[in-house]
Amino acid sequence: AAPLVVAVSTSISAKQGLLIRNRANFEGARNLDAVVFDKTGTLTHGEFGVTDIVPTGNYTDQEVLQLAAAIEQNSEHPIAAGIVNSAKEKGIPVGKVNDFESITGKGIQGQVEGRKVNVVSPGYVTSSKLSYNQQQFNKLSEEGKTVVFVLVEDRLAGMIALADIVRDTAREAVASLKEKGIHSIMLTGDNQKVANWVAKQVGIDEVYAEVLPNDKAHQIQQIKDAGRRVAMTGDGVNDAPALATADLGIAIGAGTDVAMETADVVLVRSNPNDVVSLIDLSKKTYRKLV
Ligand code: ADP
Ligand code: MG
Repeated sequence: AAPLVVAVSTSISAKQGLLIRNRANFEGARNLDAVVFDKTGTLTHGEFGVTDIVPTGNYTDQEVLQLAAAIEQNSEHPIAAGIVNSAKEKGIPVGKVNDFESITGKGIQGQVEGRKVNVVSPGYVTSSKLSYNQQQFNKLSEEGKTVVFVLVEDRLAGMIALADIVRDTAREAVASLKEKGIHSIMLTGDNQKVANWVAKQVGIDEVYAEVLPNDKAHQIQQIKDAGRRVAMTGDGVNDAPALATADLGIAIGAGTDVAMETADVVLVRSNPNDVVSLIDLSKKTYRKLV
């Protein structure tokens, strides 16, 4: 009877928006202790809008946005789309960029009209020992906004704050997992304060922030080494190694191809609540087999 049960569960899973790519790991979903969630694009919609521009010295809001948008035209990061769209909405002409390069997990850089321009994370700015308005930065971050810094020739030109929207379904998913005794964890490359803000919105109390892409997989391994059976849920290229390391890798359907190709299960509807459905389905399916 076993193959029949599996075949039936395949059609049920398709109806529920679950694309199961690795049956063996899907089977293990019934024994999970913890589910790790990436923040941007997973717990949130991953659609950023610019909320604040804070120029430094002689720069104007418009110049800061213009320089940032020129660089970000070349990036696929959700932050990039937010900045480019904002420049477009304001009718700001965006110039050409040469020698574009991404700085993994930290930002991007390129040449705009012969000047080196960077758009980078707070961590990058701190490690470059550049000073900035800490009070302003803290205020924006504590409101849950992601702040990036615009540098021209390695000097601060300003900061840009962006807001993303938390998925309602993320809060529901975390609550349902808790009822099942499954612990939710957040893993993100974004700033600690923003991470804490989103975690509070969705009810997560274990947070790892400012984690570089390579360290995401390392963090999952540590959770496994502590004896916990863990699923990783993510959408980005930078989540792929962590998806592969977890006992169960779950990709958001609206995410990158790399994440989907690496995952054991794809949430076709991009709904974090479907993590709960997939655990229920794994339990139902494999209970019948034993
Ligand atoms: P996440 O885990 O939230 O998807 P990433 O590892 O992609 O985060 O990025 C971490 C941080 O690096 C971002 O919060 C941002 O500060 C910075 N960053 C990455 N890519 C870009 C970009 N294209 N423009 C500006 N900042 C970026
Ligand atoms: Mg993400």
